[in-house]
Amino acid sequence: MATIQLAAARKSYGSAEIIRNIDLEIHDREFVVFVGPSGCGKSTLLRMIAGLEDIDAGDLLIDGHRCNDVPPDERGLAMVFQSYALYPHMSVADNMGFALKLAGVTKEERHRKVAAVAETLQLAHLLERRPKELSGGQRQRVAIGRAIVRNPKVFLFDEPLSNLDASLRVRMRGELIKLHRQLDATMIYVTHDQVEAMTMADRIVILNQGRIEQVGTPLQLYREPSNLFVAGFLGSPTMNFIQGEVVETHAKGSRIRLESGAMLSVPHVGLVVGSTVTTGLRPESLAVSIEGQLRGVVEFTEHLGDVLLVYMQLPGGKSVTAKVPEGTPAVAGDRIAFSVEEGAISVFDAAGNALSKVSAQDFQP
Ligand code: ADP
Ligand code: MG
Repeated sequence: MATIQLAAARKSYGSAEIIRNIDLEIHDREFVVFVGPSGCGKSTLLRMIAGLEDIDAGDLLIDGHRCNDVPPDERGLAMVFQSYALYPHMSVADNMGFALKLAGVTKEERHRKVAAVAETLQLAHLLERRPKELSGGQRQRVAIGRAIVRNPKVFLFDEPLSNLDASLRVRMRGELIKLHRQLDATMIYVTHDQVEAMTMADRIVILNQGRIEQVGTPLQLYREPSNLFVAGFLGSPTMNFIQGEVVETHAKGSRIRLESGAMLSVPHVGLVVGSTVTTGLRPESLAVSIEGQLRGVVEFTEHLGDVLLVYMQLPGGKSVTAKVPEGTPAVAGDRIAFSVEEGAISVFDAAGNALSKVSAQDFQP
């Protein structure tokens, strides 16, 4: 069992409020990812959970017990950092077993535990090597192994893959997901990389300037972002935002005139006729179509091999990105029209908050 709860947690450095009133519940054996732009407070929040930073106000509960004042080594957590900081003069085996040695675990028991974990992490053949004789990925695995041998209730990872090259990062991502399944442990993983968040998390916590913007499964956040920040943070290329005016509302949806003049039917309710809203269109929800509402001129294209990115300029100058199958005919200078998958449209009010939709079967364009 390992649950973590934060209630009204706060942290300031001097007069700068870094963590502002965080309420969060992390369930037993969940893989939760904290994601957000650099400097938003991800590491600080993780370090507050770890006990490496004091909590100014609010409560931290681990398995229901208040732990604000419990020293880090008594919280049952293990942390893995971006810089793995292995002891250079020690072998892999000694690095992995060091915390156990400090804790007074016998040599035999240490060997047994280190060997078992080395097996899991495919490090068994490297146990006698020194860190400098390992690749970056192997070193990171040793750092993870060092955490696993302590058998913590909760693993805390702070950007552990950031120093690895792209292909290794993808592989380690998969290995960490497998490891989570094997160990059945609660894990909190900090990253600024939305792809890591989308691919690894059971639930994502999106942070911005010390506040939680939204918590949910990757698909919930992708499909139903609760505000402009979340909508713009997840997805690549980023969501297109186009201003429009609400011209009609009914029980089953609304109609919006975009600044380019195009009319969109949306499954959103609660809009006010005459008000200005921001529509959010995912590049992957646009498809080339003769009858498409979004009409403009192709500015340029990018071939990614499997998909084609089309950058189009709408009347009035606004640029829109579409992600379409490779082979779609589109050349700079072409007139082009895209239809919009209406169920995938987001609509945000003037404050940037998402407006709610009717259910798909109720929607009448
Ligand atoms: P993230 O991990 O999301 O990039 P951090 O949690 O490291 O962000 O930092 C959040 C903010 O707190 C940043 O603006 C950073 O400059 C500030 N900060 C972090 N640690 C300290 C510290 N020890 N003293 C003062 N400011 C700090
Ligand atoms: Mg950080």
